[in-house]
Amino acid sequence: PQHSMADLFEASARRVPERDAIRYFDEAISYARLEDLASRFAAALVERGVGKGDRVAIFTQNNPQFLIAQYGAWKRGAIAVPLNPMFKHRELDYHLNDSGAKALVCLEGLYREVAGEVVPGTRVEHVFTTSELDLLPEGAGYANLAGARKLRPEGTEDLLEVLETTPPDGGARERVSPEDIAYLVYTSGTTGPPKGAVETHSNVAYNAEVYRTWMRMGDEDSVLGVAPLFHITGLVGHGALAALAGIPLVLFHRFDPSEALRLIEKWRPTMTVGSITVFIALMNAPDAAGRDLSSLKKCYSGGAPIAPSITEQFEEKFGIYIHNIYGLTESNSPTHAVPYGSRAPVDEKSGALSVGVPVPGCEARLVSLEDPSEEVPVGEQGEFAARGPMIFREYWNKPEETERAFHEGYFLTGDVAVMDQEGWFYIVDRKKDMINVSGYKVWPREVEDVLYTHPAVKEAAVVGAPDPYRGETVVAFVALKEGQRIPEEDLVSYCRERMAAYKYPRRIEFLEEVPKTATGKFLRRELRERAQSPQR
Ligand code: ATP
Repeated sequence: PQHSMADLFEASARRVPERDAIRYFDEAISYARLEDLASRFAAALVERGVGKGDRVAIFTQNNPQFLIAQYGAWKRGAIAVPLNPMFKHRELDYHLNDSGAKALVCLEGLYREVAGEVVPGTRVEHVFTTSELDLLPEGAGYANLAGARKLRPEGTEDLLEVLETTPPDGGARERVSPEDIAYLVYTSGTTGPPKGAVETHSNVAYNAEVYRTWMRMGDEDSVLGVAPLFHITGLVGHGALAALAGIPLVLFHRFDPSEALRLIEKWRPTMTVGSITVFIALMNAPDAAGRDLSSLKKCYSGGAPIAPSITEQFEEKFGIYIHNIYGLTESNSPTHAVPYGSRAPVDEKSGALSVGVPVPGCEARLVSLEDPSEEVPVGEQGEFAARGPMIFREYWNKPEETERAFHEGYFLTGDVAVMDQEGWFYIVDRKKDMINVSGYKVWPREVEDVLYTHPAVKEAAVVGAPDPYRGETVVAFVALKEGQRIPEEDLVSYCRERMAAYKYPRRIEFLEEVPKTATGKFLRRELRERAQSPQR
């Protein structure tokens, strides 16, 4: 890409100033207004000595303030650092210190509960706080915002007040090059301390363009924001895509199935991308029956495996086909996707639903798990390695981790995959989630796919637990659909009849809900701990 994300956003604001840029619950904010607010924030940053290369941390939910902060930072060549609003003190402390953030944009509630105590131990010099009720009309009541208040914590500046009193910077902004850094996006740290992936403007713009062309997005389209904006799916598949295409983005604080259903019917968005658990939640919402989701034709699920039976159920209920899409933080979202309008094949051997074919520009290699210099032949399992303009530059201040992550210029993803004769890819599972039962490899995804074919099962997550005889044993955590009951033995036999003896779960624990990360992925680490000490 020839342009930074700051340029691309401004170009859209010039092209379609009157069009809605954000639809926040029932309120609309035009491109012209968003551009004006971002310019004001840019000017405010300059006044406070925050400029090129400085990090601006954003600790909010999915709201307009997030985008105002991000575009404002970019106009001055500063780097946006999106942070997970679920962070507690220790986590926030780590991320602020690791990124060396100089400014922080923060929800008031999160400042009171977490950030207020953490900031003094960091290099943060300026804190802007904002309420989730700001930018909504007086008295607007949303269940999703229960408990929100308007209060400015001491020692912070009120973001809205700053925007009102600072004139826009009139375009006298720093030249931002496509090779400058747009984001530090932190990985969730399942393998060690979280690492900040350094994503350039060019990386982000490239994959925003991939979304646009792959999903054939035009002026009539709009995006529903179900993924959190602090995660790569939300950043690129919602924010960057909408800004590049100059189309509206629907935001509603954080994902809630009932609110999502209401806003889909109200705004009729045409595209969304989120974790499969989002679609499971929509399907099982108590008020889901008879809802009209027909506008949402470009429906994509990424970030975690999809069981084929789930896509079938969703299509039966809403008449919408969920396309698979695969990517990572380090690849700025997609490396693979099912082209809009195509259907993913299912691998005969593993039962996996294809994640699609490599997106334009992605060079995909499958390499031996033992020796990454060796490519594996078609039809065999290998670790997926990727090269291309969407791949991140490096891990922030972690040269050794960066060195280890690349081999011959290809980024090693840690995911095991297979490619078929026609070039479709299938993710077998994560290398590190493999369960070793007496030397046999069991991939959780395969067992979960079978569990999902049972009509009573709403969510299923499979992990390994230590076993004195077999090394590891397969344990499943299952949440049942409302009103459903099934004895553990029956579900175990259901699985035993459908897979090899070493694979079926020896134990199934029923939960109200399977614990998930804010991005909707199952918390496998927590489940593994739980599997070690069964609560019965
Ligand atoms: P970590 O920090 O441990 O890398 P993470 O889940 O936060 O964890 P992300 O970059 O958010 O990391 O997610 C990327 C991972 O999600 C991939 O490596 C892959 O395992 C999984 N994934 C993404 N899309 C799909 C898909 N369509 N099907 C199966 N798995 C997927």
